[in-house]
Amino acid sequence: MKFIELSPGKSVKGESIHAYKSESSSNDKATKYNYILGAVHGDEVEGAHLASELFNWLKENNDIDMPIIVVPIVNVDGFKLKDRVNGNGVDLNRNLPSKQWTPEAREAKYFPGTAPLSEPENKFLVSLFETYPPRFILSFHSWYPVINYNGACKELAEFLASFNKYPIEADFLSHPTPGSLGEYGPQTHGTPVLTFECPVLSDGVTLESIWKDNEEAFKKLFTTKIIETFKS
Ligand SMILES: [Zn+2]
Repeated sequence: MKFIELSPGKSVKGESIHAYKSESSSNDKATKYNYILGAVHGDEVEGAHLASELFNWLKENNDIDMPIIVVPIVNVDGFKLKDRVNGNGVDLNRNLPSKQWTPEAREAKYFPGTAPLSEPENKFLVSLFETYPPRFILSFHSWYPVINYNGACKELAEFLASFNKYPIEADFLSHPTPGSLGEYGPQTHGTPVLTFECPVLSDGVTLESIWKDNEEAFKKLFTTKIIETFKS
């Protein structure tokens, strides 16, 4: 499918944040978009790799016709430096204006910023959501393998898990994430969010092997139409 580049956002350090929108026949009447996000945490190269492989595959596949927006690297400054946080030292997945946002951080690496939505990378994301309302958000991370869902996308989590056998968690109850996209998406836009945590690089785990282990799941997610028909 064909994608066009939208007007890019700007990071703390003035780098462009690239975003792409699918150009398909269904886009003319599209009111809601499926989002694919990579590298909200800049050091999570594994998740960024999955987002980029999925995006490459979508670009080559002319049978898929649905409204999609892709931001392959949200935290461009962090990605450059292999750093979790953005150019202000803020964890972007703790800086969104959810009801639970708090200035307290359990650890320095979760620094949520001085105010909710203080960071330009998140302002850009929110401006995209306002212009192109999200129907479903798939955000790629890496940590230990787990498919975390917030809002009504359990069916999608189960669908992916049927391929890769990753565990599913309804939310990170054992690991609160105030100001995360998982809180913000359902609360503000009524949008289910799937936070896909793939494994990190280690002996025998390479970027190629992570994509190989998940390739079928994501290709089927977009070709079997479950993404269009699940109840949200
Ligand atoms: Zn992450």
